[in-house]
Amino acid sequence: MRYISTRGAAPDLGFAEAMLTGLARDGGLYVPAEIPQMSTGDIRALHGLSYEETAFRVMRPFVNDAFADDVFADLIAKAYAGFGHDARAPLVQLAPGHFLLELFHGPTLAFKDFAMQLIGQLFEHELSRRGEQVTIVGATSGDTGSAAIEAFAGLDSVDVFILYPHGRVSEVQRRQMTTPQAANIHALAIDGHFDDAQARLKDMFNHFEFRDRVRLAGVNSINWARVLAQVVYYFTSAVSLGAPDRAVSFTVPTGNFGDIFAGYIAKRMGLPIDRLIVATNQNDILHRCLTSGAYEKGEVVPSISPSMDIQVSSNFERALFDAYGRDGKAVAQLMDELKAGGFAVSQGALQALREDFGSGRVSEDETLATIRQANETMGELLCPHSAVGVKVAEDQRDPTTPMITLATAHPAKFPDAVERATGIRPPLPNRMADLYDRPERLTRVPNDLAALETLIEERRRT
Ligand SMILES: *Cc1c(COP(=O)(O)O)cnc(C)c1O
Repeated sequence: MRYISTRGAAPDLGFAEAMLTGLARDGGLYVPAEIPQMSTGDIRALHGLSYEETAFRVMRPFVNDAFADDVFADLIAKAYAGFGHDARAPLVQLAPGHFLLELFHGPTLAFKDFAMQLIGQLFEHELSRRGEQVTIVGATSGDTGSAAIEAFAGLDSVDVFILYPHGRVSEVQRRQMTTPQAANIHALAIDGHFDDAQARLKDMFNHFEFRDRVRLAGVNSINWARVLAQVVYYFTSAVSLGAPDRAVSFTVPTGNFGDIFAGYIAKRMGLPIDRLIVATNQNDILHRCLTSGAYEKGEVVPSISPSMDIQVSSNFERALFDAYGRDGKAVAQLMDELKAGGFAVSQGALQALREDFGSGRVSEDETLATIRQANETMGELLCPHSAVGVKVAEDQRDPTTPMITLATAHPAKFPDAVERATGIRPPLPNRMADLYDRPERLTRVPNDLAALETLIEERRRT
């Protein structure tokens, strides 16, 4: 399997190279040159398999010969061994025809663990085989950073620097990033928003001299291997509700468009998915775009679902690439226009996007009301991101097709919002109950490329 850039001007790569690189050198994102198909027979054969067995069958054709079968199976097993639930991604019922896919049983209580735990294993295996070291720099609105730190802490072949917006992540998120004591881990609190952190990260990737010298690697949601790991739970959940013989729909709390794009890949592989619905908070660039065709940056307005406080959804570029008939030049042109503030999606491309994606936007008050109501009538404590999804799903679902809403974080990761809505302060699971007592370690950094590069050069081990 070869991987090609969405901007059409970077070299094709194999799976391992695309994974280790992250962003393509033309600024684009890697996507598979073609999408492997699973027949109805292949999908039916997933009934009764464990999460890990399904993961192997779904991901195998994308990975190809990058890892031997027994090695790949072993790395998958290690990735999910630390989860606090044997099903890994259990499905619970909220209402007739409406189900919640709990993606928060990993070590940092958010769905990011599904991808990050796996790529931690894949990176370590591949880098030690090659005898290489990389410097991972990540930008996070909270959950990616903690998941990356948890996945890479203590590994020999990587140094990890995580940029998070100072004062704009929840206390649990911050502590998950600042309390691991491994020497290869560095939590950097940047003065600015998530979009500033993401922009500085992109600057580093575009500064080739620095990029090559420190062997920069990216694990943000633009990394293809992360998208791939997320495809798996679309299969496990749909199969448990009767796929391939019954279609299902999904509603996905969305920020950077990585999670829902994995659902789109599952659909392209042959999983019968009727609708994929983007649920946004008040930072609603995607909802506005799918409604009007105008993709225009606004100001980020901080919300109670901070992991979705994003105005530029990086992975949307992958969906645009397909909607424009895989025309890399057209995508590169749109991304140039975006630098100046925004662009208009062509009529044909907008129609193509709408064939797969619907959307909805949820206000802060509606989010709180949904958390309260779900506790009262569905017996479920929702984190604010998951509540955004549940609200959009309830508004838009059609009674004849089962709806699966993705619960992207554990309520205890955002206890203030949950307590405000319900009066209940959700406790952390026992395995991390001492989080508030562990010592913190972080570095404040300015929103400045040169200063960041200097600091990374000084701190990295090789
Ligand atoms: C990252 C995150 C999201 C958004 O996911 P994307 O892949 O960026 O769209 C939603 N909810 C939570 C809790 C997250 O951590």
